[in-house]
Amino acid sequence: MKLGCIGDDFTGSSDLANTLAKQGMRVVQYSGIPSRDADAGVEAGVVSLKSRSIDPVEAVAQSLKALEWLRAQGCSQFFFKYCSTFDSTPVGNIGPVADALAEALGADRVIVCPAFPGTGRSVFQGCLFVNDRLLNESGMENHPLTPMTDADLRRWLAIQSTFPVGHVPAQVVFDGAGAIKGALDAEHAAGKRHIVVDAIRDEDLMEIGDAAQDLKLITGGSGVALGLPRNFGCSPCTPDWQGQTGPVLVLSGSCSKATRAQVARHVTSHPAREILAEDVIEARITPAGMLELALGAGSLPLLYSSSDPDVVRAVQDRFGREEAANAIENFFADLAQCAVAAGVTRIIVAGGETSGSVVEALQIEDLTIGPEIDPGVPALRAGPNLVFALKSGNFGTEDFFSKAAGVLGP
Ligand code: ADP
Repeated sequence: MKLGCIGDDFTGSSDLANTLAKQGMRVVQYSGIPSRDADAGVEAGVVSLKSRSIDPVEAVAQSLKALEWLRAQGCSQFFFKYCSTFDSTPVGNIGPVADALAEALGADRVIVCPAFPGTGRSVFQGCLFVNDRLLNESGMENHPLTPMTDADLRRWLAIQSTFPVGHVPAQVVFDGAGAIKGALDAEHAAGKRHIVVDAIRDEDLMEIGDAAQDLKLITGGSGVALGLPRNFGCSPCTPDWQGQTGPVLVLSGSCSKATRAQVARHVTSHPAREILAEDVIEARITPAGMLELALGAGSLPLLYSSSDPDVVRAVQDRFGREEAANAIENFFADLAQCAVAAGVTRIIVAGGETSGSVVEALQIEDLTIGPEIDPGVPALRAGPNLVFALKSGNFGTEDFFSKAAGVLGP
């Protein structure tokens, strides 16, 4: 293995695996830290953790364990993947994990770049934009677990990290890899360790990738991984894929703006059942019962808890943020188990945390990467009769659910 990656959630990890696969690397996404060595021939391993919203101390411990496994596989470079909307709180977990990985690897210039131009995320003047809005005006300020209230990555990361945060501005990035390298060196000389690097176009990410050739640790969204495979002699290709037949189920525990639009669109032409947080928490419904209703209702059924921010806030005020999130995640996890037991072979999940719960509950060890459904979302194969699409909240076009079902199989 050449490139060792640690993802702080499952959808983000498949996004990264997708980017690396498209750029020609042989990639496997692992669910958690594998208990055995990787198969020979795997060039990039993506260890997916569910560490974005857990206690920072635990997130650091899991990330260091993942690093240890990747080091044992022979990797020469490491990547810490977090969300392209920098999902984190003032206490973590991006800063503490990046600090710990940098220390463990002796990395003194650590790129911080969540840019993903293909999905409208750009970093300019140290600030993160979602399309034409600053991050904190993009809807992400209402995220149920990691409300993003500041778009300035230098300021937000500085609160979380013990290291000084530097910056390489777009004007330098536009001058190419040599200039970026020089600027990283200058920031290092000025005592900075984490260095936010601006990027607004894929070309910028390719140059940053070139500049990162000798760096031990890179952190960011999947975009900044675009330029890494060619440092390992890989070139773009299309992954192999065999479509999967059989029943499909769509599960949505994401309350992000794009997901809510996808749900609104899907319910107009497909069977759908809303899962109310109160009903889950007060045990008025069961996963088996909801599944039965969904599967009996017609093609491409959707079960969703996706709600508007004011509804989510009311639930959180009443039951507690974590309690509500855990109850709903566990409900989706149980639903997925019931679905597989009932013969469902294609599962589409919206939501990073939600996807993590589902994949963990199904005890899936690794996933191979298929074709891209929408930017950042690949089809995934988990076994001979089970395929997935795991979608981060804000990814995908409005018709994502039916599009994903079509890509997963006939
Ligand atoms: P995204 O990718 O959009 O961030 P996630 O699945 O990562 O989606 O996060 C959404 C979180 O919100 C999950 O923990 C989920 O359980 C929780 N959640 C989902 N629906 C509701 C709801 N109706 N009320 C409160 N919390 C909810």
